[in-house]
Amino acid sequence: MNKKIALMPGDGVGPEIVKQGIKILDAVSAKYNCVFEYKELLMGGIAIEKTGHPLPQETINACKESDAVLLGAVGGWKWDNLPGHLRPEAGLLGIRKALGVFANLRPAILFPQLKSASFLREGVLEDGIDVMIIRELIGGIYFGEKKRVDIEGGQKAWDVMAYSTHEIERITRRAYETARKRSKKLTMVDKANVLESSRLWREVVMGISGEYPDVETNYMYVDNAAMQLIRNPKQFDVIVTENMFGDILSDEASMLTGSLGMLPSASMGEGKIGLYEPIHGSAPDIAGQDKANPIATIMSIAMMLRYSLDMEAAASDIERAVSKVLDKGYRTADIMQEGMDLVGTERMGDLIAENIC
Ligand code: ATP
Ligand code: MG
Repeated sequence: MNKKIALMPGDGVGPEIVKQGIKILDAVSAKYNCVFEYKELLMGGIAIEKTGHPLPQETINACKESDAVLLGAVGGWKWDNLPGHLRPEAGLLGIRKALGVFANLRPAILFPQLKSASFLREGVLEDGIDVMIIRELIGGIYFGEKKRVDIEGGQKAWDVMAYSTHEIERITRRAYETARKRSKKLTMVDKANVLESSRLWREVVMGISGEYPDVETNYMYVDNAAMQLIRNPKQFDVIVTENMFGDILSDEASMLTGSLGMLPSASMGEGKIGLYEPIHGSAPDIAGQDKANPIATIMSIAMMLRYSLDMEAAASDIERAVSKVLDKGYRTADIMQEGMDLVGTERMGDLIAENIC
């Protein structure tokens, strides 16, 4: 059966990395004799340029009709001075909301070949790193009321962090289900000693934890979690947390694995449709220079095949292909090590596609 894949290349390095992703999908399609129907859509800065709006209605409709959505990255200096609701990032938040993808799964896995690219000290790296950060994606402070008012002597601005019981429950259950399939250890990260929204999170998680007696539950404040991720990442299996804390902790976790260019993500809602994207941004500083690491995008496609398209074998093929190419010593600039072969975005995409067999 044909699978419909919506593509939103976006801005900056987005189009370059999505192009590599298509090479991978084409290789999978040839091996498994299946057809992927691609539909390219406008979102982000490019949509502002062409339509005046970061998220055209047509993009939302086409995404909803597809089996999965692949996104490059959005944003760039060019749009920095636009008001918040017209910026490229508003398109990204809008499409996540429109698709109802409340759970953002961000696995941080260290490939053994990249041990020396991680800045962690030797002892910590002994048996690798495998942490799954599950970030709430369509609630909290990124979506709460934002306001600015004039006051004497200047201005005052605020952003509201709000969560409902329902919003917390659905992500908590997703996190427990994920933990059950892994090492059965869940760490809930919050700031419950200060924030009321965090106290509600903790109550809800405690209530649900009884339904999963086989999973060990731990609670940790976000400041401690940021430190523990560096000190001893092995203590974590699945981390569940609200939107902003998850954004920050997953960028931090990416450096354990060597580079922001290595980390994929999957955003899921109640149904099968998912939104897949690298965790990094549009990297305007290296856009158009054939320097971006496409592996985060390619690993996001593996997640797409696994979670939305029921193609587990193909997902494993991709992960093996990435590993093989790293074994052979090929590296993009961000993960370059002495004695290895430096390759650009295009070549890295070609090499991984060639190794899907
Ligand atoms: P966003 O707010 O959209 O997450 P950001 O401010 O976190 O964006 P990025 O665009 O992710 O910023 O870039 C941060 C740094 O990481 C930049 O120096 C960029 O060049 C680098 N970087 C990001 N992605 C890659 C990649 N795929 N390959 C190599 N370097 C990357
Ligand atoms: Mg970022």
